[in-house]
Amino acid sequence: MKPDILSLNLDEIRSLVSELGQPKFRADQLYRWLHVSKVASFKEMTNLPAKMIAELEERYIVDPIRLVTYQESAVDGTRKYLFALPDGNLIESVRMIYHHGISVCISTQVGCRMGCVFCASTLDGLLRNLTVGEMLGQVYAIIRHTGERVSNLVMMGCGEPMDNYDNVVSFVRRISDENGEHISQRNITVSTCGLVPKIRQLKDENLQITLAISLHAADDEKRKALMPVARVYSIDELLTACREYYDENKRRLTFEYGLVRGENDSQAYAEKLGKLLNKYFDHTHVNLIPINPVKERNYNATETAAVYAFQKKLEKFQINATIRREIGRDIDGACGQLRRRYSEGNPESETFKK
Ligand code: SF4
Repeated sequence: MKPDILSLNLDEIRSLVSELGQPKFRADQLYRWLHVSKVASFKEMTNLPAKMIAELEERYIVDPIRLVTYQESAVDGTRKYLFALPDGNLIESVRMIYHHGISVCISTQVGCRMGCVFCASTLDGLLRNLTVGEMLGQVYAIIRHTGERVSNLVMMGCGEPMDNYDNVVSFVRRISDENGEHISQRNITVSTCGLVPKIRQLKDENLQITLAISLHAADDEKRKALMPVARVYSIDELLTACREYYDENKRRLTFEYGLVRGENDSQAYAEKLGKLLNKYFDHTHVNLIPINPVKERNYNATETAAVYAFQKKLEKFQINATIRREIGRDIDGACGQLRRRYSEGNPESETFKK
């Protein structure tokens, strides 16, 4: 299978151009076609010589992402995309509309091996990491499909970003590159379930991103029951690494707390969470997420009144708690559900085909 050329950085494009015996300026032209014009084929690169295009076609594919289908929420316009990769694997991406602009949520892996009990993405384990080009391709495909400028990016789709560390860091540098799509790093959120060594490594990358930690519990026992990663790294180890990250980067961290009915949503838990975070940080931000039910798991979302009560309790600890707007419940909102349903050969009638 040919590799995707989107994965190459500018230096690698320069080496390629020189290998092809072309003058240096062709590298900038090629890079612009790929990352500014975002064409989907070499044939569209009209100012490149035919010989160069033929040689590129022999070695690379341009666009590793093919739109299979998408669903659009009648409630809030959220679009969930199902994309096929060159090897036939399927991934999901989501485009959301906020008052501050368009936000895209991308996948970083095919599947996930982290095993969080409330998540559909992990039910078949990890199949493989996504390339840098496959991550860029999701954003570019959505831009081409909608014609919209993307202002915010979240890496909270299928996969654990820190489990595909090198490609994710390269992707962040490339999508924020001023010669390309140039999304501000400050508008990029990378989410992790808490791979402590990777958080320590990320601290030294000098990125301006927001790091979001999926905490989901305020004690080790409960966290272990929800997230197998907690059997490897305790909450204390995790929050110590988070504090080190904050001290180095001075970038606010966000803690994601998925509310699962009857599991971690009581007032006692809210109090425990407040005390825990205040031990490590003066001011923190907690994003409360009433989880989307997953049919394969026996977990349900917390009722609205209990969500607000949980938020109120956290505020008593001077913690800024927001409730994540529920998006796209009518379109297989939980990450991984559209992919699973489609893989099972059972796409229902509300799907749209291009
Ligand atoms: S919640 Fe994230 S880290 Fe956990 S299994 Fe799902 S995709 Fe993986």
